[in-house]
Amino acid sequence: MSEGTLDRLELDRFINVSGTMTGLGASIAHPDVARAMAGILPRFVDIGQLQRRAGEAICRLTGAEAGFVTASCAAGISLAVAGAMTGADLAAIEALPDTGTLKSEVVLQMGHQIHYGGVIGQAVRLTGARLKLIGQATSCHAHHLRAALGPETAAALYVVSHHVVPYGLLPLRDFADICHERNVPVIVDAASEYDLRGFLEQGADIVLYSGHKFLSGPTSGLVAGRRDLVRAAYLQNGGIGRGMKVGKESIAGVMAALAAWERRDPAAVLARETGYIELWIAALAGRPGIVAAAEADPTGNPLNRLRITVDPGAAKLNAWDLADALAARETPIVVRDHEIEHQYFHLDPCNLHPGQEHEVAAALAEVLDEAVRRNAPPDTNAAARERRRIEKLLAWPD
Ligand SMILES: *Cc1c(COP(=O)(O)O)cnc(C)c1O
Repeated sequence: MSEGTLDRLELDRFINVSGTMTGLGASIAHPDVARAMAGILPRFVDIGQLQRRAGEAICRLTGAEAGFVTASCAAGISLAVAGAMTGADLAAIEALPDTGTLKSEVVLQMGHQIHYGGVIGQAVRLTGARLKLIGQATSCHAHHLRAALGPETAAALYVVSHHVVPYGLLPLRDFADICHERNVPVIVDAASEYDLRGFLEQGADIVLYSGHKFLSGPTSGLVAGRRDLVRAAYLQNGGIGRGMKVGKESIAGVMAALAAWERRDPAAVLARETGYIELWIAALAGRPGIVAAAEADPTGNPLNRLRITVDPGAAKLNAWDLADALAARETPIVVRDHEIEHQYFHLDPCNLHPGQEHEVAAALAEVLDEAVRRNAPPDTNAAARERRRIEKLLAWPD
């Protein structure tokens, strides 16, 4: 869409310091991605052949035996689970979500039952599989996993993400070793992880990534892994995967994104983002009730975020008041607020256009100065803010 047409839609422009969020339009697509998508749209292609080429690119980057492109990482989870149940049995594929006599249990650690904008267990269950949650929220041991694996087990699902409980759960290598003792395939959701090889190396049989997050591709998902499992997942395109299909444009877009990823200079990206964080730390230095410090990504992606902690008594506002004031500006600034009820949030530097870092710094200073000047007691609460968010959601499209 041209800039002119976009302007006529009167869409709000955001500064995204939240991260790659589906609700904000994911990421800034690489220019090569847009060109590749536009280039292929007027052509006819053999989709099986195009997916084979995409698979070759995915294998080159992941070290997998086979791969293909689907609609999203969430779609990839459903397709991988369905494939683990049906194999290449086309009649079984068309019968899902009726699982008949197929093995149909999928094991998941309770601390991995996450919500990424949708519930991961639902991505499993919509195939017809039953979810078997093991352990407790903050603990899972080898004995929990061994006890859960049995004649009904089709697969085990493992999640690598900042969303999961960060302690007390099984490491992937141990999880995979135990599953492999029983010949149970391990499906890994690595939607937001930059490491394209490590999870297969640690024992994943099939791994799923988002194309529209760190890869800066189109809305899409990448499936990579063992040839038989990838084939079985791919064949679901004639079954429950029909509603999760990708067209030629997304497949071409992912291939361009992967090519750009191979040429990327991670040290230069990290240096640029570190510069943004240092600018924000300088803008916040000496302000009453504000502590700002760089924090490493919780799953080890080569990326830092700025954590801003607010002492409401001294700053004269709560962390969520600061976030809301930033979001209420003429150009809204959207922060990463997953843990905001604890009086802190993060600024994620990954999705900024050049120059926006200065707008963020200036806005932070302005809002904080204003709160100190007004000197009113910070009497809002985080739960009410969450209720308003749900109300707004339920009111769509009003
Ligand atoms: C974003 C995310 C998903 C969903 O990915 P989509 O490609 O948007 O479907 C799944 N799992 C995790 C851990 C995520 O972060």
